[in-house]
Amino acid sequence: MKVANFLNEIIYADNAATTPLDDEVLDLMIDLQKKYFANPSAVYKISKPVKKILTESREIIAECINAKPQEIFFTSGGTESDNTAIKSVMFANLAERPNLITSAVEHKAILNSCAAMKNLGCTVTKLSVDKFGAVDVDELEKKIRRKTKLISIMFANNEIGTIQPVEKISEVARSHGIIFHTDAVQAVGHIPIDARKFDMLSASAHKFNAPKGVGFLFIREGLKILPFMDGGSQENNFRAGTENFPAIAAMAFALKKNCEQMQLNAKKLSECSEVLLKILRENNIDFILNGGDNRLPGHLSLSFKNFSGESLMHRLDLKNICVATGSACNSKRTEISHVLQAIKLQKNYARGTIRITFGKKNTPRDAKTIAEVLTQIITQG
Ligand code: PLP
Repeated sequence: MKVANFLNEIIYADNAATTPLDDEVLDLMIDLQKKYFANPSAVYKISKPVKKILTESREIIAECINAKPQEIFFTSGGTESDNTAIKSVMFANLAERPNLITSAVEHKAILNSCAAMKNLGCTVTKLSVDKFGAVDVDELEKKIRRKTKLISIMFANNEIGTIQPVEKISEVARSHGIIFHTDAVQAVGHIPIDARKFDMLSASAHKFNAPKGVGFLFIREGLKILPFMDGGSQENNFRAGTENFPAIAAMAFALKKNCEQMQLNAKKLSECSEVLLKILRENNIDFILNGGDNRLPGHLSLSFKNFSGESLMHRLDLKNICVATGSACNSKRTEISHVLQAIKLQKNYARGTIRITFGKKNTPRDAKTIAEVLTQIITQG
């Protein structure tokens, strides 16, 4: 299969969707794939190095988030980790029709898992959010019931970048003896994380410059939950299936690298955001910056008055700039995302929303180009 390589001409600013593979991470993965093929569960000597790589990867990941190696369970990514967290806790309590509390702004991997649980007789309480996308911890506490077995609130929002008060939420959950899961897919590798504060935490490798189709779920030691994937005895009998060890090793390496450079990267990303916002403001462009001040670094959800986000996205694409949109047109009307609806953004702005998410390969020059092209498109109408 031949794929055209025009990436050099592209400004990629959609890092919340996925990140480019780090070059060293790719080299490691190819090297491992070439050198080792043995099944890590086999007992002959050629599987020993594979087992060792898995063990070391688990240790590296655990160290990055202040967990113990035995608390890290490899999965196929964020969606699987989220499904596992929700379903394994709910299945374990299904007989008593348990309640679970989540928020209106979660990723579909959580919201649709909750919907599936509702179909099986569980009840789901969805917390509203303020205009910046943050949940209210007092409201959460008021909504807790005797049957509440799980609270799942994301660490940081994938559309508008809001960082939730997850440590406070965790304290409330613990004081009521309720399991707390956080979908940290957008946060891991980008902002500091102390897993000791949580019961379960989801992560996905492709959000921190590692390959797609691999991730992990942190499960606090001692937490009793049911296995979600039945089969062989891999992952301590919790998640069956032969481990994708080159991808797992790549994930561990990428996470360590990102964590070591976290402060520097965050500073660079914030610089890109500032350059872009400054140019838009200097040109008197009418827009709203969503998500408040406590946002992921380099994450800009911008809503332009009386514009179509989808059309802005396509027009930027024509200029070789990749961004995402917060609204999508179907044949009849523009659909505003559930997150923008939850923050009650005025419709004439919400329809004109794009998401620009910088990554560690972006430069202030990229930000300047994006701002200038955007200004040109907006002022030309
Ligand atoms: N949760 C959040 C917050 C995400 O942003 C994503 C992906 O965009 C996912 C879950 C799903 O992760 P994956 O693509 O690894 O399945």
